Formats: sequence, C-alpha cells, structure tokens
Amino acid sequence: MMVAHALAHEAEKLLACIHCGLCVSACPTYLQLGDENDSPRGRLYLMRAVAEGRLPMTSKALARHIDLCLGCRACETVCPSGVRYGRVLEAMRADLARGRLTLGQRSARFLLNHIFTSPTRLRWFFAPARWLRRRAFARRLAERKLLPARLKLALELLLATSPEVDSPLAPPRQQQTSPSASTRGQERRVAVFAGCVARELFEWTNRATKEVLMAHGCAVEDPPDQVCCGALHAHAGEIETARALARRNIRVFERCAAEALVVNVAGCGAMLKEYGELLADDPEYAERARAFAARVRDISEYLIEIGLRPGSRPVRLTVTYDAPCHLHHAQRVTTAPLELIRRIPGVTFVPLVESEM
Ligand code: SF4
Ligand code: SF4
Repeated sequence: MMVAHALAHEAEKLLACIHCGLCVSACPTYLQLGDENDSPRGRLYLMRAVAEGRLPMTSKALARHIDLCLGCRACETVCPSGVRYGRVLEAMRADLARGRLTLGQRSARFLLNHIFTSPTRLRWFFAPARWLRRRAFARRLAERKLLPARLKLALELLLATSPEVDSPLAPPRQQQTSPSASTRGQERRVAVFAGCVARELFEWTNRATKEVLMAHGCAVEDPPDQVCCGALHAHAGEIETARALARRNIRVFERCAAEALVVNVAGCGAMLKEYGELLADDPEYAERARAFAARVRDISEYLIEIGLRPGSRPVRLTVTYDAPCHLHHAQRVTTAPLELIRRIPGVTFVPLVESEM
C-alpha cells in the first residue's frame, strides 16, 4: 500500500484548515465545475483523509481532483487561517508521483528529470520549435482547420512566442543596446534569472528585461550556468529534482555580487522566493537558500523599488493587465505592475474585470 510520506510532513498545514469555506468562491475550478471536491476546502479534506489513512492514495477520484487543481493559489490569498495550500498540494503530488503512472505521465517525468535539468539538452529539445515558428507554412497551417484542436492550439501558442510578432513597443533594431556594452560604470549590480522555457522561446523578453535594467543604471549579470527554477518539477511532484535544481542555482548566484536577482516570470519568481522553505531541512543549504530568496525580485517590484524612469516619448496605447496567479497570489506583488503602467506617459489603462482570478 502506498503511504503518504511527503503529505505526512505537511500534516500541520492540513490541520490549519477550519473549513470556513471562504476560499471556495475564489477557486476557479470550483466556479467552473461546481463540485466541492474541486474546491480548496474539498481538496484539503481529501488530502487529510489520505494523511489519516481513511482514503487510499490509489483512489482514482483523488488523483483526478488533485490533478484538476491549477495551483493558482488564489485560495491562499483569501484564507483567514493562513493555510499554505501550495505546499500541501506539492506534497500530495509528490506522493501521487510515486504511484502507478500512465505512459503520458512517465514521459512528462522523463522530460522534467532528464531534459529540463540540463540547459544544453533543453537547447536541443527546443531547437525544432524555434525552427518551426519561423516557417511561413506553420502560420498557414495554424490558420486552417487541418490539425486536431489540441495540436492547433499548441501551434498557435508556439507562434505567439515568435520574436517576429509585432510589438508596438519594440524599438527599431539599431536602437537596441548590447548588454555587454552597457554594463560598464553602472551604479547597481543585478543578476537576471533567465528561466528554462523563457531562455529558449522568450529570449527577446529576457533581452528587453536586461535593456530596461541597464537603462536604469544597472550592471546586469546573466550567469550562463543557471538552471530551471524547479517550479515545473515541484508542481508535478518531482520535489527532489526541484531541490537539486535549487541547490545548483544557489551555488551559481552566490558567485554573483548582485544586490537583486531579477525575474520576469511569475511562476519562477514564486519558486525562487520559496527556496528557503524548499531547503529548510537541508543543513548545508537552509541558510544559503534563505539568503538567496531574500535577493529575488520581480522586475515590476524592482523597478518601483529603484525608481522607474519613464521614457520621454509618449506611448499611445490602450492596455489592460491580467494579474499572473503566481505574482498576485503566491508573491503578493499586486500594485507594482499597475504602478508601472500608470507611470508610462501616453498609456490609457483599462481595468480587466476579475484580473486577479
Ligand atoms: S479559507 Fe482556509 S480555512 Fe477556510 S476552508 Fe479554505 S483553506 Fe480552509
Ligand atoms: S490553487 Fe487555485 S485551483 Fe487549486 S484549489 Fe486553490 S484556488 Fe482552486
């Protein structure tokens, strides 16, 4: 019989739930499905039943309700008891990952443990995707109804990552600064966390992040040997791989004399800020992980912290803001992105209803 090892470790967090139900109406899966088992309270109840031996870990219903959770952590924001739902969920998924897995789940775990752990293998893995998104036939294929719906969606998402997608904010090529040329004589030292998928498919976003930081007087470091933050692994129950990646990132960034580690992906930022908790039981790394986490800043909060210098050229755009779950709920960075938008001259901001959902 499978035993709830990781979940047992988080038993105290499970007991913190007083079943008040305040989180239920904040949960997107409950609002969509209307099933208490797909609400935070319902899932916590199921997990507690597993931890207390009243529900077998092999229950298919349990696996389905846990699998459907988005991990958005909107429930944490509204919980009056401070239940650390995200930690409990990761523990539950770690225990489930030790059970019988489908072929698809085993393949996903192979990718996480053997491809996403190595920047070199990741580069090769994403090479076909980078090639495909530059092909005109891929664009034509996405416009037609030839592909199965899921494949079509995947192709559309890939094409949306193309650096050739028009951005009204993109400066002409000749205006773009080269990072190495612009780091001399700057007053602040920062390191940029490049991410895994971001480094392979959103290099232009990382480049823009560096250019904005340099325009604010920062000398930017981008250590080439940094690795994935481990969020994908932790969310999928591969907690030991997540810890191994965290240890490596800590060693890499300890060599940087940066006052802040700036990150532009909400999920990565949430994970990096929680390295202290992730490695709390590791005598060699616990303190180093806390020091690492204390330096992590989302790009929006860092720019507000050091004082945003808006450009003089008005940007005539109407924009809105859809708060990323892991920025709003996990990192609790709620006002900085809106403040950034507000300070850009010429921008018209239109609030998005339920943007925090
Ligand atoms: S809001 Fe918190 S205490 Fe209340 S049911 Fe949800 S998780 Fe439990
Ligand atoms: S993490 Fe999000 S989807 Fe999961 S229970 Fe909490 S609110 Fe619902």
